[in-house]
Amino acid sequence: MSPQNLPAVLREVGRRIARAAAAAGRNAQSVTLLAVGKGQPVELLAAAADCGVTDFGENYLQEALAKVAALQNRALTWHFIGRIQANKTRPIADTFTWVHTLDRLKVAERLAAQRPFHAPPLNVCLQVNIAGEVSKGGVAPGELPALAAAVAQLSRLTLRGLMCIPPEESEPARQRTWFARLRVLRDELNAAGHRLDTLSMGMSADFESAIQEGATIIRLGTVLFGARPP
Ligand SMILES: *Cc1c(COP(=O)(O)O)cnc(C)c1O
Repeated sequence: MSPQNLPAVLREVGRRIARAAAAAGRNAQSVTLLAVGKGQPVELLAAAADCGVTDFGENYLQEALAKVAALQNRALTWHFIGRIQANKTRPIADTFTWVHTLDRLKVAERLAAQRPFHAPPLNVCLQVNIAGEVSKGGVAPGELPALAAAVAQLSRLTLRGLMCIPPEESEPARQRTWFARLRVLRDELNAAGHRLDTLSMGMSADFESAIQEGATIIRLGTVLFGARPP
């Protein structure tokens, strides 16, 4: 993928988002595009920012910190979407506006304690292991209410919503089943008194299904930037 192609790619993705939102009776403005830059050169991210992309997601801390530093002159919002090592929470608390992959109270407590006092609370989503896959992170659905209640008590974090990475499915109907489950879990938490406004779900292969089920943040890498360099 070359930076020159990005404007056309972003226009096409924007059209697909608009179509999926319209089909669901939703406003396309209610869906935030998170550009996932892992493995991609910072020049490509800069080109996306030039096209108006404001939100960027990164998985690997060292790579992320270098990109944040390189693009610090732009007003961008950075989201951490990778596995969190409990002993590496401080740079995450220092640098990011959002964390999508919180799944343990211990990590939540560290992020809350380390969030700089001059910064607003860190926005967090709880990652849910929606299909119970051993290879994936995330809290089990049954343990979600207790974790949500505990995280909601931490004043330096704002519990915004839920995130999932479902199993790969080629059938849109089956993709939607997983996303619908996450939406139901969100609704159950809100019925219990939480005020979650975020569903971080949908990637390049399934974002239209996610939008149909209520995604408010879709996390797109390949469809924007092409295959990740090896
Ligand atoms: C890599 C990644 C994405 C983007 O994946 P694509 O299929 O390239 O769009 C989204 N979310 C998470 C958590 C990721 O690790």
